[in-house]
Amino acid sequence: MIKVAKFGGSSLSDGAQFAKVKNIIEQDPSRRVVVVSAPGRRTSDDNKVTDLLYLVKAHIKYDVSYDSIFEMIEQRYMDIRSECDLSLDLDQEFEIIRSKLSKNISMDYLASRGEFLNAKLMAEYLGYQFLDSADLISFKYNGDVDMEKTEQNFKEIFDVYNKIVIPGFYGSLPNGDIKVFSRGGSDVSGAIAAASLDADVYENWTDVSGMLLADPQIVDNPLPVPLITYKELRELSAMGAQVMHEDVVFPVRKMGIPINIRNTNCPKAPGTLIANIGDERESLLKISGISGGKGYAGFLIEKDRLSEDLELRSKVMDVFSKEGIAINNVVSGIDSLNIFTREENVKGKISRLEIEIKSIIGSGSVTANTGISLIAVVSRHMVKSLALGAKVLTALASRNINVKMIDYGVDGVNTLIGVANSNYEKAVKAIYREFIKK
Ligand code: ASP
Repeated sequence: MIKVAKFGGSSLSDGAQFAKVKNIIEQDPSRRVVVVSAPGRRTSDDNKVTDLLYLVKAHIKYDVSYDSIFEMIEQRYMDIRSECDLSLDLDQEFEIIRSKLSKNISMDYLASRGEFLNAKLMAEYLGYQFLDSADLISFKYNGDVDMEKTEQNFKEIFDVYNKIVIPGFYGSLPNGDIKVFSRGGSDVSGAIAAASLDADVYENWTDVSGMLLADPQIVDNPLPVPLITYKELRELSAMGAQVMHEDVVFPVRKMGIPINIRNTNCPKAPGTLIANIGDERESLLKISGISGGKGYAGFLIEKDRLSEDLELRSKVMDVFSKEGIAINNVVSGIDSLNIFTREENVKGKISRLEIEIKSIIGSGSVTANTGISLIAVVSRHMVKSLALGAKVLTALASRNINVKMIDYGVDGVNTLIGVANSNYEKAVKAIYREFIKK
């Protein structure tokens, strides 16, 4: 049995957090692959080491002294070393990095040192083998991960060492240069390690006990979600629910490896399991999440038989793509098309877009509406039960919330609702209460 356990920055911010991680690893001998982020914030006004590393580079670029920032970074690791009673030769490690601090230092190399040093400390602390992700995760020159090569690297090395700590966030290009993922990318490193070793589970340890059914800033103490499918997760993330890096799902989903989101500060909580199997399982909650946000604009285009005229529809869509405007959702009826995008994408362009679309469709009308909030109510049971959609509408009607748009989605897991921005919070609360009666 192999479990890949990835720990985020808040789980590794100081010696006390390191101790919690050690405890978790010692609880289960199958946690044989540990992936670490760089130290995160200890308090709300603290800095993340990775942010400081980017700041060092900015100072170098503008010829401003970076000494005090670099010393802050050094101090973070020295504190962890002494709090955990470790002996890693940090002076030597910092010397190597300092010797490379010049105008042409690679930003990726510098940013990756946050994870590199943390993994070295954690490996010593756990008594696991440190391995450098530069030797494991191989990128192609186009920026994609070379999964074949990466898998081979992991397998070869895992035959030799089978309790390893690796740094998250980076790998290397064919010429050996370090390349980092986008921010938050240690999540992706963990998923790639899990996929490469065909792990039984990918544990993502963070500072929350899994996903919550709704935004806790809107709903008081929303319930955690025990089980969710990859498909549901994709729908929720697309509508703004921030869980993990968005590239996490692909490698593990393909291999059928479940992800378990867990809380380092509350290891007893089972967290949220993300898997394919959920499709078949009943869930007590009936819904898997409510997510959404304010600030959308909708372009309602009405013309007889619009849905049959594919050429016309694609010309309308081209108007947006030519302007580089990302479309978030398209809801179509027989004689209508409602295209949603973020309001900021069309700021100052609305009348022009309306005129352009009108010139394409000829007869018919185009109306742009702003100030719209979109809410996704996600449930794998949606497809089987019409009652769920009805429940959403009942919840809104009973609070006199006007529904501007409703769409049941193409894949049967998502009901998307449009309401006025002013009704957003009220609507989310109403839907939550309808499903989760106190
Ligand atoms: N340390 C990196 C960041 O802050 C990567 C990560 O933590 O996932 O973005």
